[in-house]
Amino acid sequence: MPRKTKDEIQTMKEQLFSQKQHAAHRIGKTEQKDCVQFCRDYMDFMNTAKTEREINAFVIAELKQQGYQEFRPGMELRPGDKIYLDNRGKAVIMATIGTADIREGVRLCAAHIDSPRLDLKQHPLYENQEIGYFKTHYYGGIKKYQWPTVPLSLHGVIVKKDGEKITVRIGEDDSDPVFYITDLLPHLADEQMRRTAPQIIKGEELNIVIGSMPYPADKGSELVKLALLKLLNEKYGITEDDFMSAELEAVPAYKAREVGFDRSMIGAYGHDDKVCSYPAFRASLDVPAPVHTSVVILTDKEETGSDGNTGLKSAYLKYFLCDLAECFGANGRAVMRASKCLSADVNAGFDPTFPEVLEKNNCAYLNHGVCVTKFTGARGKSGTSDASAEFMGEVRKILDDGGVIWQTGELGRVDLGGGGTVAAYIANLDIDTIDIGVPVLSMHAPYELVAKTDVWAAYRAFKVFLES
Ligand code: MN
Ligand code: MN
Repeated sequence: MPRKTKDEIQTMKEQLFSQKQHAAHRIGKTEQKDCVQFCRDYMDFMNTAKTEREINAFVIAELKQQGYQEFRPGMELRPGDKIYLDNRGKAVIMATIGTADIREGVRLCAAHIDSPRLDLKQHPLYENQEIGYFKTHYYGGIKKYQWPTVPLSLHGVIVKKDGEKITVRIGEDDSDPVFYITDLLPHLADEQMRRTAPQIIKGEELNIVIGSMPYPADKGSELVKLALLKLLNEKYGITEDDFMSAELEAVPAYKAREVGFDRSMIGAYGHDDKVCSYPAFRASLDVPAPVHTSVVILTDKEETGSDGNTGLKSAYLKYFLCDLAECFGANGRAVMRASKCLSADVNAGFDPTFPEVLEKNNCAYLNHGVCVTKFTGARGKSGTSDASAEFMGEVRKILDDGGVIWQTGELGRVDLGGGGTVAAYIANLDIDTIDIGVPVLSMHAPYELVAKTDVWAAYRAFKVFLES
């Protein structure tokens, strides 16, 4: 065989090797503009809706405005009809009826709208040395030491005995006060710094400072607590016992901001998984006439393992699909069997400062597009649904034909840890399911980092999938 020239070798490589490229080399000028605008919308959304309840309310308000109707079993539905189901104010399913027979299955995108945070305990309020506090119980997998000395806002509801529901959102407006967890000064932290990292700040040390002024009185105990309850009573009409039937969540009061001189990235609280749920929601709105019925589910409780009636281990998705099938005289089981799903959740992006946790050939990179993950799980793929080669092949074609910038990636080196998503619970319904999502740096930290081109790529991926 004659020796190849340098150029010929280069051509051969281009033909045979997998091409990995930064999105900047692949994204067109118009698309770049669309990407920037989309990310602006995303940042506005993040500053408006930070918790599952707020996202549920935001999404449903928008759906109503766009002509979506609340789903009722047995309702008459035609192609192009738009419906939604509100699951207890914490999760939402939206669907657009396709032109194809429902028996050909639906195109499903699933993402979650809860994020790691600090929940208040049921008896949260106390006073210690004339400082008022809330006791918390953290929600989701956090590095506890990251949460002190961060401005916190408070979100949620208080339900009174008579059923009246009070919505709380304080600490987000610039004129609002914020809340705060203290840490020890370095001068006195010798002992603390010898604790192991999970214990540097212990769960029972995540106490939120909420006030320091006593109720004016000559003498008496717990006057700061009294003053705080008086304030809360005036503002919300509540007494201490009302905390028992409340869900109050402390989250970082930070706003979403562009990051870098080139403004190419976004820093924010809760990219996991708003960075998938918002694009999925937008894709649903932007596919008004799908062939296959499109279904987007924004679920709750992913960060605590998907249990509970608003999490995806519950039957609410299955029941919805069965009820939907019945509207067309179809069998729910058959519809699920024919359906296909993108399980949209973030993945770990490669962090050059910590290269050792990922395997360079099989991990996601910032600005290399939305990341498709064939399997998740820990050790020997424990807990994974592992999408079939056939379905992976289908998804590959849909994404490539749609001009989507995408990559593949696994969550960490083998045997180093791992994690799961809701994919397995959807696959367990007999639905072809694969994981897809945006690479994130500092996942589960109070402020997480993503690249704008990847956010855009996620939206594009969901849109072409729902159109397929
Ligand atoms: Mn997630
Ligand atoms: Mn997570």
